[in-house]
Amino acid sequence: MELLDRIGETLTQVGNAAGQKAKDVSEFAKLSSELHSLEKKQQDLYIELGKKYFEEHGDSTEEAVEALKEIAADIEHLKDQIAGLKGGDACPNCGAVVPKGSKFCNACGTKMSIFEEEDEETTEEE
Ligand SMILES: [Zn+2]
Repeated sequence: MELLDRIGETLTQVGNAAGQKAKDVSEFAKLSSELHSLEKKQQDLYIELGKKYFEEHGDSTEEAVEALKEIAADIEHLKDQIAGLKGGDACPNCGAVVPKGSKFCNACGTKMSIFEEEDEETTEEE
């Protein structure tokens, strides 16, 4: 019995020493596989989230896309207006550039309301 105990003790010691090295390696493997599985889980959740969002807000997604298109068009329009402001004023209705100080748009005839307020404050005609 004593021999068996000693053999058992030795085996435990050898096992511990080998186990320490294996532990470092397996710790790294464990952590990296944990990281991988977390990243996978994250990806799956992103997909799941997008799917759920699309299922529940499919219509508003379409609206959002349309809104984005409109915004893109508005941005282009604004860019044109800003560029136009260098040489004149932009019509608030059609965005056409009219000579600075004009009361009406040359293109659509819209009253240049931005300057109307200014005019009312400074010069009171009529
Ligand atoms: Zn106009």
